[in-house]
Amino acid sequence: MWQTVVCCLLNYSPMGSKHLFDTTTSYILCRRCGADLADTKHIINHLSPEANIAINQTIFEQKDVAVQVFSNSLGIKFYSISFSNTKCTAINNWQQNFTWYPGYAWKPCICKQCGVHHGWVFEPIESIDFNPNQPSKKGFFVLKLAFLLNKKFADSLIVVPKSYMN
Ligand SMILES: [Zn+2]
Repeated sequence: MWQTVVCCLLNYSPMGSKHLFDTTTSYILCRRCGADLADTKHIINHLSPEANIAINQTIFEQKDVAVQVFSNSLGIKFYSISFSNTKCTAINNWQQNFTWYPGYAWKPCICKQCGVHHGWVFEPIESIDFNPNQPSKKGFFVLKLAFLLNKKFADSLIVVPKSYMN
């Protein structure tokens, strides 16, 4: 199933080269409810030494985005990308065990509209006391690709073709 989801979401491109992301604004939506979740200009490549796989790909019209595959303690795999900022809402307390980023604590984050679990927020351990709910400028988000939807793609499905208009 993951291979099916990934092949439909991603356009493959060769690995390598440093990233200079397009600064054109394009939105990413919650795949379950359509809520605005993130802006493509906030995609970053925050690599983890704990990732099973990291592959540079063109995704959401951005070149050389690092797609990382993480496994949790149950062996469940997550294809993910990282963001400097999103509207994903952090919940629960900071956890320091089983982190994918050494030196960082994490919390789950959810869609504020439908509650689906989109991913995680990471914050340097030394600053978690000052940021109980959202990451600081040193923090970041890791979101699961399976629950993200390109707004331009969604619009292409619901916009009435010009040939149907009078
Ligand atoms: Zn949602």
